[in-house]
Amino acid sequence: MNLSNLQKRDLNHVWHPCSQMKDYEEFPPIVIKKGEGIYLYDENGKKYMDAVSSWWVNLFGHSNQRISQALSQQAFNLEHVIFANFTHEPAILLAEKLVAYTPKGLNKVFFADNGSSAIEVALKMSFQYHMQKNKPNKKRFLSLTDAYHGETLGALSVGGVGLYNEVFQPLLLNTVRAQGPDCYRCPFNQTPNHCDTPCISFVEEQLEKHAEEITAIIIEPLIQAAAGMKMYPPSYLKRLKELCLQYDVHLIADEVAVGFGRTGTLFACEQAGITPDFMCLSKGLTGGYLPLSVVMTTDNVYEAFYDDYASMKAFLHSHSYTGNPLACSVALEVLNIFEEENIIKENHVKSTYMREKASQEFSDLPYVGEYRQIGMVGAIELVRDKETKEPFPSKERVGYQIYRIALEKGLLLRPLGNVLYFMPPYVIKTEEIDKMIQLASDSIQEYFKNSSVMMRCF
Ligand SMILES: *Cc1c(COP(=O)(O)O)cnc(C)c1O
Repeated sequence: MNLSNLQKRDLNHVWHPCSQMKDYEEFPPIVIKKGEGIYLYDENGKKYMDAVSSWWVNLFGHSNQRISQALSQQAFNLEHVIFANFTHEPAILLAEKLVAYTPKGLNKVFFADNGSSAIEVALKMSFQYHMQKNKPNKKRFLSLTDAYHGETLGALSVGGVGLYNEVFQPLLLNTVRAQGPDCYRCPFNQTPNHCDTPCISFVEEQLEKHAEEITAIIIEPLIQAAAGMKMYPPSYLKRLKELCLQYDVHLIADEVAVGFGRTGTLFACEQAGITPDFMCLSKGLTGGYLPLSVVMTTDNVYEAFYDDYASMKAFLHSHSYTGNPLACSVALEVLNIFEEENIIKENHVKSTYMREKASQEFSDLPYVGEYRQIGMVGAIELVRDKETKEPFPSKERVGYQIYRIALEKGLLLRPLGNVLYFMPPYVIKTEEIDKMIQLASDSIQEYFKNSSVMMRCF
């Protein structure tokens, strides 16, 4: 293997996330030198179309002019200040805008610095709320199978993707789990157009049994992303919200991945017309520039903490970079772009185009079980058998092999097991959507033409 100088030095010391480092022996890290729009350029000048928005964070392209300018201006003015007892204009303006844009009733904004820590904040707030409302028995969280909420221990506890949390089971919180929606393999044989969400009964059963001890239900609205872009209808969220009210349980909407326009609306909860008790936002919040997250909550929650100091009811949680001014000014510029450049409307045109093209291209390909899409997220689920929907065994790493073929062709298409997905920056143009779909399709076909999987299927 011919490694560049930087690749060698990387492998000497860097431990990469979400990676078996031994894989890098035959597939070394790609050194990216430059990003521009939807493209990344490696040290040899090779160009990659970023179809996954660099781990779902980028919205308006790499090295975006407007955002870079906002960042640089802020950097010359104020880079950081302790956020206890101090504040600054970017955080204030950002909080005002977020309150205006998120579902009605989310009037309070708590800052943190990444998705997982936003989840920890929401879990802790919900628990402490109930303690202070004299409900000390409420100390368990209810979450769904196939949920993903990050990888710190609290977030892992409410996660349901075995790949990430299995080894840590002895360390995790004792949560209640309910089977989540699974529309592709619907156990009730409903279709997306004819679905009255009978699967909500799985949650209801758990609430009937455990509501007394449950403080909150946490969910990823509309798309269980890390589990393989599993999509479900807004009616499920609506029912969930009703159940939360009925059983006196908080609803935590984890919009870390789906917020900021990914599902077609600025926030996914809008589509169900609901206001959760907590909404966690990160990833797209800064358009992929800097780590920042917020937990939005209601006046009702806020007031349960508001008292004389001696009552010891304050929410004592902080991160060194809480409300970082650089990150806040970048997030403000992101919201300005949404406003001034009519992004949600433009995205609607692009996502309609992508749906038509991709459905045409993928539906008849062998081993493509389903092409599904919500807003600016499209997913291709590969299966061994289209009739029975039998998945490929995960150890075959079908998605990973196709990912490598696509990279050769200049398309960055990271897989989630047997699911490949498109989550492009919003600045993608229609002819680039064509190209993205074509390259993905070519890569899938090339893999199955050359692999022994074919033989085993017959
Ligand atoms: C990515 C993600 C998180 C975790 O965010 P990090 O910034 O990676 O810690 C939490 N929830 C969801 C739904 C996510 O997709």
